[in-house]
Parts: sequence; structure tokens; C-alpha cells
Amino acid sequence: MVKCPFCGYESDISGFKLLRNPWKFRFYEVKILECPKCHNIFNYYYGVSPRGKKSEFVIRVRPRSRR
Ligand SMILES: [Zn+2]
Repeated sequence: MVKCPFCGYESDISGFKLLRNPWKFRFYEVKILECPKCHNIFNYYYGVSPRGKKSEFVIRVRPRSRR
């Protein structure tokens, strides 16, 4: 399950819109997702550390400032 850090909406990852192809950050796979409810955007990190510990977390993405 993935939880939106803005509104708390929870869904399977397929319930969120993938905005870009996933990329690798160290041992993580990073996905940039858009919440279908509040339309905010966040990064979803998922990976297994070299010690075999499963790790996942989300990071809010600040909207780009408009000029
Ligand atoms: Zn949301």
C-alpha cells in the first residue's frame, strides 16, 4: 500500500498515476506519483538494503514556482 503524504489517501501503487519512468537511487527504485484525489505529487522510494532490510518511504515534491 502507498499512502499520499498530503491527504492520506491509501491505495495500491497502481491506484496512483505514474508521471515518469522509475529510476534508481542507490538500492532504491524511485517513482514519481500523482495522487488521484488531491493531485499532489510525491516521490515513492522502495528498495531492499544491502543488509536485506526492506525499506519504503515517500517524499513530498514541491510544486515548481510559477512566474
Ligand atoms: Zn492525496
